[in-house]
Amino acid sequence: APAETPQVVVNAHGLPYQNPRLPVKKRVADLLSRMTLAEKAGQMTQAERNALRSQGDIASYDLGSLLSGGGSVPAPNAPEAWAKMVDAYQLRAQATRFQIPLIYGVDAVHGHNNVIGSTIMPHNIGIGAGRDPELARRTGRVTAKEVRATGIPWDFAPCLCVTRDERWGRSYEAFGEDPALVAAMETVIQGMQGARNGKDLDRNDKVLTSAKHFVGDGGTEFGSSTTGSYTIDQGVTRVTREELEAVHLAPFAEAVKRGTGTVMPSYSSLDIIGDGAGPVKMHAHAEMINGVLKDRMGFDGFVVSDWQAIDQIPGDYPSDVRTSVNAGLDMIMVPTNYQEFTRTLQDEARAGRISEARIDDAVSRILTQKFKLGLFEQPYADTTHLDEIGSAEHRAVAREAVAKSQVLLKNDGAVLPLKKSQKVYVAGSNADDLGNQAGGWTISWQGSSGAITTGTTILEGMRKAAPDATIDYSKDASAATDGYDVGVVVVGETPYAEGLGDVGNGHDLELTAADKAAVDTVCAVMECAVLVVSGRPQLLGDRLAGIDALVASWLPGTEGDGVADVLYGKRPFTGRLPVTWPKSEAQLPVNVGDAEYDPQFPYGWGLTTLQHIPGGGERTLKALALAAKILQATGQGRSEQAEKVVGTARLIVQQKIGQDIAQASAKPFAEADHLLLTGRPSDAVAKLTAAHRAG
Ligand code: BGC
Repeated sequence: APAETPQVVVNAHGLPYQNPRLPVKKRVADLLSRMTLAEKAGQMTQAERNALRSQGDIASYDLGSLLSGGGSVPAPNAPEAWAKMVDAYQLRAQATRFQIPLIYGVDAVHGHNNVIGSTIMPHNIGIGAGRDPELARRTGRVTAKEVRATGIPWDFAPCLCVTRDERWGRSYEAFGEDPALVAAMETVIQGMQGARNGKDLDRNDKVLTSAKHFVGDGGTEFGSSTTGSYTIDQGVTRVTREELEAVHLAPFAEAVKRGTGTVMPSYSSLDIIGDGAGPVKMHAHAEMINGVLKDRMGFDGFVVSDWQAIDQIPGDYPSDVRTSVNAGLDMIMVPTNYQEFTRTLQDEARAGRISEARIDDAVSRILTQKFKLGLFEQPYADTTHLDEIGSAEHRAVAREAVAKSQVLLKNDGAVLPLKKSQKVYVAGSNADDLGNQAGGWTISWQGSSGAITTGTTILEGMRKAAPDATIDYSKDASAATDGYDVGVVVVGETPYAEGLGDVGNGHDLELTAADKAAVDTVCAVMECAVLVVSGRPQLLGDRLAGIDALVASWLPGTEGDGVADVLYGKRPFTGRLPVTWPKSEAQLPVNVGDAEYDPQFPYGWGLTTLQHIPGGGERTLKALALAAKILQATGQGRSEQAEKVVGTARLIVQQKIGQDIAQASAKPFAEADHLLLTGRPSDAVAKLTAAHRAG
């Protein structure tokens, strides 16, 4: 980078747009009226920071945005270094004619996951399993605080994909397979942005969200791929219009209501059955972006493309640019060829192939968010909260989220919770591996195994929870003999991001050979609990019969203590499946609502250990009485205040009544779950009660 420091005089011009007392609309109009086409094109351009040929290009090309992409290497991993880095870029932007600040974006998809020492939350699939909207909101709040502390005002999250086929490698980025569950977890948007109208965005602990990937990313069709016979990352979603609305669009309607500042289209194509158009790339889908998202849903933030995604639109580069911008994209994540993009955009505009009105609309949308974020007044990192990154308080929120995300699938002979007096044998590839339990999008794009950041592994958590117990550990179970009270085998996936994950490695959704051997060895000689640390269900086949207790642990992140909390009964298991757990490969894809539905464990399944917690039985009864009152008071409606109490009531009622009937029949259970999520708690309770009586 060049050594010279640009001269900066903040608020030098005293122009109306710089007056924070003027309404945002007026400020935008004033600034826009002064800008040249080149300056406008720059605002619509987002480059990757590593691709900058020189830092001076920020000013020369009037760049509107920079990002640290998933593949951004090397990234400065320490929090202070991030803040300094972003500030240095902002300083460059301050050297432009109008001192328009950059909007810097990052993928903080489970905490500020690029930064060493940050609080890494469970990936979304675990948050979905927790089904606690208030807790989801708090995880968002923590993430936002840690991200903004490093001077970054924009997060490419949450992913609102509704996963319909878990072979998709991004399944763990989804809250689940039911659009109602995804919508219920969107409280995370409030956690990150604050008030729905965006009035909190200028606070130093809030960030702009990006609801992604619009629309249908989780529905890419099985068999449509060119990569063998598997669902691929960027394939085609082939759905009827009804399915598109109900399954894939619904979570975005919710995000718009919640005021998400930005939306990112999906790499995938959309093929609406019966409309005769064939597959259309989402980045070129004017009907969906202009028509549905902006016009019908009334989305007034800005649309940012995905990484280099416009290049996938058929045709030459000028056609990619005009097709995407005319379809409603406001900012393009170029990310490397930013010079070519801004030039082409201006050429297309000058030739009248993109209207002035379209350019002005795009730039206005971008500037509006920058004003709302308070970036014109404070472009630099306010490092007040820097020392809260990875703080005990933040980790406590993550730990709670982890504990609530754990789904107890099987518990023969009440193996769980463990007793502190027991002699325990721990084995398996993911028992003592922080990187594996954090998964992809952690420190690096793909994530990696080992001690990659600060945190507690599951084994460490267990040893902290039962400091006086004998807890022996051998990764490959080489010393497993009898003489132990119980074995805990922690198996699962190794990290991956985008692409196919392990499905591409030939062993599908099955355990690795080493993990299978560890399970077999341990479960043969002692009572055993198997914990599956993975981004999606794993196929256990006949092995399941030999396992006494089975837990879906998902990708818990840095707080292994949360897993230990439920293992040792400090907290009860209350998580429930956010996706259907299949029996076999042949069953995929399998989703609740399918005509033939006979999975290993149904959507919504999850046992509780509440009764084993001291005083749990009595507490349950009291809580039930309270829940009934709450349900009466909140009625059928769904309101912001009711969300929290209904969430609690939902959990209690389901754990108490739902669990019993879930054994008998999955259907009423799943239906009741849907009713609860869609704000009809009384109907749900009636359904559960009826099923309980019948069963
Ligand atoms: C992913 C997005 C992400 C972007 C920027 C893309 O490859 O699909 O989810 O936000 O990269 O890192």
